[in-house]
Amino acid sequence: MTVKTEETKIKLSHAVACHLRAVRLLHRVTPRFFPVLTAASLADALNPYVAVFFSARILSELACGRRPQILWRWVLAGALCTCLFAVLKALLHQRKETLLDDLYGRKEILFARKMFSLDYADIDRQETHDLRSQIRQNENWSGWGLMYTPGILESALCSAAGILGGIALTVTLFTTPVPAGAGRLTVLNSPLFILALAAVMVLASLAAGFCNGKYISYWGSASKDATLGNRLFGFFGFIGQKKGRGADIRMYNQQNLVKAYWDKNKAFGTKGRLSRLAKGPMGIFNGLANAVTVVITGFIYAFTCLKAWAGAFDVGSVTQYVGAVTAMSWSIYELTALLGYLRTNTGYLDTTFQFLDIPNAMYQGSLTTEKRSDRNYDVEFRNVSFRYPGAETWALKNVSLKFRVGRRLAIVGENGSGKTTFIKLLCRLYDPQEGQILLNGIDIRKYDYRDYMNIFSVVFQDFQLLSQPLGANVAGSALYDEAKVRRALLDAGFGDRLETMPQGLGTQLYKDFTEDGVEISGGEAQKIAIARALYKDAPFIILDEPTAALDPMAEAEIYGKFNEITGDRTAIYISHRLSSCKFCDEIAVFHEGRIVQRGSHEELLAQRDGKYRELWTAQAQYYTKE
Ligand code: ADP
Repeated sequence: MTVKTEETKIKLSHAVACHLRAVRLLHRVTPRFFPVLTAASLADALNPYVAVFFSARILSELACGRRPQILWRWVLAGALCTCLFAVLKALLHQRKETLLDDLYGRKEILFARKMFSLDYADIDRQETHDLRSQIRQNENWSGWGLMYTPGILESALCSAAGILGGIALTVTLFTTPVPAGAGRLTVLNSPLFILALAAVMVLASLAAGFCNGKYISYWGSASKDATLGNRLFGFFGFIGQKKGRGADIRMYNQQNLVKAYWDKNKAFGTKGRLSRLAKGPMGIFNGLANAVTVVITGFIYAFTCLKAWAGAFDVGSVTQYVGAVTAMSWSIYELTALLGYLRTNTGYLDTTFQFLDIPNAMYQGSLTTEKRSDRNYDVEFRNVSFRYPGAETWALKNVSLKFRVGRRLAIVGENGSGKTTFIKLLCRLYDPQEGQILLNGIDIRKYDYRDYMNIFSVVFQDFQLLSQPLGANVAGSALYDEAKVRRALLDAGFGDRLETMPQGLGTQLYKDFTEDGVEISGGEAQKIAIARALYKDAPFIILDEPTAALDPMAEAEIYGKFNEITGDRTAIYISHRLSSCKFCDEIAVFHEGRIVQRGSHEELLAQRDGKYRELWTAQAQYYTKE
């Protein structure tokens, strides 16, 4: 997977296909939006012609027939139609805007769902985050990407309907001949003349389109700088508001490091690249595109006035033709400009689809894991080796281990020795490159992934709680068994604190959404995370450094109750504090991605040159000095 940043020439067919895909995607999330947008666009496009048509009829009657009855009817019909159109337009636009709001929200959910559904290995990859961030910045910077598509479709519909409406009202401009007695002006009847006029209009439209395309292409060329600048500003511009950073910023004057990104930011302001372009070529091409459109209108004015002068039609028709052609030339201009926008936005859509198309490469098995009341699940690592994506060294090498059901296994080792990686493989967050992990003798890849995950309760080192009520956090759901949640909290050592929670299990954690929220300490959060693992009640309970944030009293309490807490579950326990491993049935010592020793605390301590003894002695010395 590579992040697309290079500008390439985009084919029109690709641009159209991309936008159609975007429309289909958005249509799926808010199905009513596009029909309403189409109706609103048609109403917009046809609106000017209603006024043009009726004013022409009224002017003609005023100039020629002067029949009050007829005039009265035209005025009434004109007022009624204009009024109806205005009401219809307002209703459609109001509905469109409401649905557009809905679409914005659902589009975000679309990205969130994609993030949720990605393989963990892809979530862990920096490129995935870069891609998502790039999409967000493109949207923030100037609305490019998925949500630019409705605007493009609206313009396409408006201009196409505008051109058709214009043609309908101007056909007679070309078909009504100048009377034979008009002298040299009869040349206006010549098909050659009409052809030449059409050629000039087409050429001028193309020139306007070219200038507009050039103007828009500068947006694309500036986007790389601007999105990066915007991204840096997005990060550093709001850093002062982030609660967790407040103390470090003050202590180490980090604002000086941040300031450089404000001062040198080229994404915004008059010294920015986009601003310089706007003052230079962008402005010139935009001006030229507008000027050429006015030239087209000028030609049509001249042609219409000359024909009216020669007696081909009356003054009312002049109003109709001039009004219709002016509206139509704007529609032509819009359509040509649209090609530029279409091409530019395609680059942004490519990035969006690059993200949305990240495949789920992990093999998804279909086997259901047997539900066993005796929790007799037999898990075995057989010669497993694993390297993180892009890494050169093995994080785990030839690891073989069999878990004995219902026993407590401690995993110890220095930082970086592969302990957490081992757990991540066990939970199938990654698949190993070599070897096999087996559940009851079957490769875990063959099991349905969700089903397989259900046999594990894990408290990771970097566990995350949500700004949600306490009970919902423990249960992972808004609906839960209160007694079971209380039991889990009690077992995790949170009982006393629960008594002081203002709304009990309903107490909101953290103050993100409410002043009544409770800020909990790291140790309290860890206890809640342990309670969450207990509530899940899975056959395997895995605790990665479960007491790192606990005070000695709380730690002693957890250890004291460890057997009670884990019950008949198979428990895997990662810890730096070797004294806390003593109560485990077996200890596996990891070193540089391998298991170098296995046995009970006493057995391992007896091995004089063993790693365990080395680690134990180092810690014992530390505690003795203390
Ligand atoms: P431990 O839990 O024993 O401290 P880890 O299992 O976290 O060790 O890490 C084992 C090795 O894998 C280390 O060298 C670490 O730098 C590397 N590692 C861990 N996570 C990643 C990752 N997401 N990408 C690349 N390398 C990683």
